Amino acid sequence: MTVRRIRKIALEEHFTAPGFETYSKVFTGLMGAAAQSDLSSRLTDFDDIRLGEMDRAGIDVSVLSQTGPSVQAEVDVDAAIRKAADNNDFLARQIARHPRRYAGFASLPTHSPRAAAAELSRSVEALGFKGALVNGHTNGIYYDAPPYDEFWECMQHLDVPLYLHPTDPRPFPKAYEGHPELSGAVWGWGVETATHALRLLFGGVFDRFPRLKIILGHMGEGLPMLRWRFDSRFAVYSHGVTLALKPSEYFGRNIFITTSGVCSPAALACALAEMGSEAVMFSVDYPYESTAIAADFIEGAELSGDIRERVCSRNAERILKLG
Ligand code: MN
Repeated sequence: MTVRRIRKIALEEHFTAPGFETYSKVFTGLMGAAAQSDLSSRLTDFDDIRLGEMDRAGIDVSVLSQTGPSVQAEVDVDAAIRKAADNNDFLARQIARHPRRYAGFASLPTHSPRAAAAELSRSVEALGFKGALVNGHTNGIYYDAPPYDEFWECMQHLDVPLYLHPTDPRPFPKAYEGHPELSGAVWGWGVETATHALRLLFGGVFDRFPRLKIILGHMGEGLPMLRWRFDSRFAVYSHGVTLALKPSEYFGRNIFITTSGVCSPAALACALAEMGSEAVMFSVDYPYESTAIAADFIEGAELSGDIRERVCSRNAERILKLG
């Protein structure tokens, strides 16, 4: 039996390279032994397991990224620079084995804006990567800080997007004390990542680099639902901050989102209405989420054929310049 599937591109799909397991232990260590073993086999596979799931779900292309927190958790700058390059070379070799099925997001040594820009340039120009995925702050440094303008300038010049992926906040917020279940994927990662994105917005990064594109996963980490309020309350409580546009106007212009890990038709309808149908892209968050559930969700959602095609593939083709 042949199952007809709509063509899909998925953007938040993770792997791990040799030597990176120590970084991800911070959250994989919370799982049982069997779950860890299953996860490890999926993260390190680039053949039958991953391609089989993609085939069954109608995913033509997966844009691969090192699983979190990657080198963002490295404290030694030189080690971060070396390991990001090793990761990107490793990923390029895997993509070369399946060039029609995989594309790449670079890992970047964000400890140094200059080194991050250099590795981004190398990854895009020499390795053919489509952008970068960064796991939030680097040891507490957020990228609205002025030295990062050098990095953003490079990103805008190369015209590739930055996928801003979740990480743990630092230091551990008092609000989560006694509630470790809230601090990670359930809630805390989304708050942390949404806040980082808003730091970029209100920090004027998109005014200084108006063609910059960042991508948020998990249906925009909750931000689409609150877009109206950003305008309403910023007009009253600006604290002297000025922006060229209303806060809401950066959504869909500089901020794009994926559906990773939120397979809710109601949330998708909200995101499309707030962001516009050219700003929302399908993703799975492999191997942490179910590829089959994500594919069934996007194919079953009440969307016009045109909008479904944009979300499933055409927006990603345009924003990532996929051939
Ligand atoms: Mn993810």
